Amino acid sequence: MKAEIVAIGTELVTGQTLDTNSAWLSRRLAAAGIVVRWHTTLADDVQENVAALRIACQRADLVLITGGLGPTQDDLTRQVLAELAGVPLVLHQPSLDRIQDFFRRRGRSMPERNRLQALHPAGSEVLPNPRGTAPGIWMHIGQVLLVALPGVPGEMMPMFEEQVLPRLRAHAPAGVLLIRKLNCYGAGESAIEERLHDLLQRGRVPEVGITASDATISLRILARAPTLEQAQDLIAPIEAEIRRRLGPLLFGADEEELQHAVARLLHQRQQSLACAESVTGGLVASKLTQVPGISKHFLGGLVAYTDAIKATLLGVPRDLLERYGAVSAPVAEAMARAARDRFGADIAVSTTGYAGPEGGTQSDPVGTVYVGLACAKGVFHRRQVWIGERTDIQSRAAKDALDLVRLYLLGVEPL
Ligand code: AMP
Ligand code: MG
Repeated sequence: MKAEIVAIGTELVTGQTLDTNSAWLSRRLAAAGIVVRWHTTLADDVQENVAALRIACQRADLVLITGGLGPTQDDLTRQVLAELAGVPLVLHQPSLDRIQDFFRRRGRSMPERNRLQALHPAGSEVLPNPRGTAPGIWMHIGQVLLVALPGVPGEMMPMFEEQVLPRLRAHAPAGVLLIRKLNCYGAGESAIEERLHDLLQRGRVPEVGITASDATISLRILARAPTLEQAQDLIAPIEAEIRRRLGPLLFGADEEELQHAVARLLHQRQQSLACAESVTGGLVASKLTQVPGISKHFLGGLVAYTDAIKATLLGVPRDLLERYGAVSAPVAEAMARAARDRFGADIAVSTTGYAGPEGGTQSDPVGTVYVGLACAKGVFHRRQVWIGERTDIQSRAAKDALDLVRLYLLGVEPL
C-alpha cells in the first residue's frame, strides 16, 4: 500500500507555517507498515488542488489530506473532494448539531459560516472532531482511499490516532515498522560511529542509523516485523549492545531529553538541584521545568546576567569577577557554589560564557562556555567551545550544564 500526503494551506507554501503535519503523519504511517512515497504541499486553490489530487489518485492507494476544513473562504477541501469525485456536497445533520453544540457550550452562537463545515461530499463518511468544529472526511474514489483531516495539529493528531489509524490497520498489510531512538550526549557523531561501526553497516537487519541535532546524537534502530512483539524482539539485543558500548554517553530513549534523565536521577538519588545562569538566560531552568513533577527536586534558579547581580544577588566574590572576568572557570565554580548555598540545594549548576556574535577574548573566543557544578564532592567545572549562532551556543550550553549534573548523579569520574 503506497500513500501520499497532501498538505493544503497557502501559509505552508509561502513558508509562514512549517508543515509539521506531513512529517508526523509519515512517521505514524511508517509505524503502521504503510509506506509514504509522496508529500505534496498546495496553496488554497480549488482547481490546483483538484489537479494535484487527480495525480495523487493515479499513483497512490491512500491519500491523506490535511488542512482546508475550516469555516473560512480559503478552506476549500470539502469542495475540492466533491469536485474530484463528481458528487454534490450534502448536509450532515449530526455534524451541524455537534458544531452548534460546540459553540453553545462556550456560550456563543454559531456563526453562519460554520454551517459549511457540516457539508461533506455525497457518499463519503464523516469523522467527528471532538476537539474542534472541523469534521474529517473518509471517502473512496475508485480503488483509492482519501482521508481529509483538519490542519490544526492538535485536532489532526487525535483524529488520526483515534479514528483513522485503527481503520487503516485493517487495510494495511500485516506488519509494523518499529523505530527505537537512543539519545546520546558528550561525544561527536563520528566518535560514536567509530564505536558502533559494525552495527551501522548498510543492509544490516535491523537497520541502525545515526543523526545529530544540537549536540545530541541519536541512534535509530528500525525493525520491520509481522507483529509489534516480534519487532521489539529484533530491537532488544541490538539496543543492549549499543547501551553496553556507549555506557554513560547514552542518556535516554525515544523522546527523552537530558532534563528527563536528570529528573529521573534526581529522584533515584533523592537530591535537590538549583541553578545560576548567565549565558543561558534561564534555559537550564526552562528545560528542567518541562518535566512534570520536577518541583520535588528542582528548587529554582537565578539568571545572574551582569557582574553586579552575580556579586550582589548571587554572592560571587567581587575580586574573582575582577581578577578572572565573568567568563572563567573560577567564576563558573563560584556561581555554582553560591547558588548551592543560597538555595540550600544538594547540587547547583551554573553557566557563564560568550554567546556572540560579538565579544570573547583571544583565549576564550565566542562560543566558550564554562559550566560549574557544586555538590557534596566539591566544586567542578567544564569548558567547551561551541560553534554556531547565539541561540545554538545557548542551547548547547544548557545541555552541557544538564549533562554535568547527570554525570555527577551517575557517579562518573572525575566528578
Ligand atoms: P486549516 O485546517 O487549513 O484551517 O488550518 C488551520 C491551521 O492549522 C493553520 O492556520 C495552520 O496554523 C495549521 N496548519 C495547517 N496545516 C498545517 C500543517 N500541514 N502543518 C502544521 N500546521 C498546519
Ligand atoms: Mg487553511
